[in-house]
Amino acid sequence: MWRASGRAFTTPWGGLAINKDAQVIGFDLKPIVGLYAAGEAAGGVHGAVRLGSVAMTDCIVFGRIAGKNVVKAS
Ligand SMILES: Cc1cc2nc3c(=O)[nH]c(=O)nc-3n(C[C@H](O)[C@H](O)[C@H](O)COP(=O)(O)OP(=O)(O)OC[C@H]3O[C@@H](n4cnc5c(N)ncnc54)[C@H](O)[C@@H]3O)c2cc1C
Repeated sequence: MWRASGRAFTTPWGGLAINKDAQVIGFDLKPIVGLYAAGEAAGGVHGAVRLGSVAMTDCIVFGRIAGKNVVKAS
């Protein structure tokens, strides 16, 4: 956590773009085969600003989706 002027920096508002299947989206706007992301590594899931306390839900939901899809693809 970074601190500046008494305020806390808790999270970056960015990361790899993913789709509903937790696949990482490339610069060509197509999923990159075999690459998945979830949690803080992924960005854009909540739009411009994330509602408080939903980060863990994000991690669990997209982590589970990514895990299931990795198993399905292997
Ligand atoms: C102060 C604070 C308060 C928060 N409060 C809430 C809250 O109330 N509710 C809520 O929902 N969310 C909250 N969050 C956000 C939530 O904690 C995070 O969104 C969540 O923990 C992110 O999980 P993650 O697994 O994506 O990333 P992380 O928890 O950051 O896990 C990433 C892991 O990868 C490891 N790692 C990094 N680089 C490498 C490498 N090269 N090789 C191997 N391992 C590596 C790290 O050591 C770490 O263990 C809070 C965050 C902070 C900082």
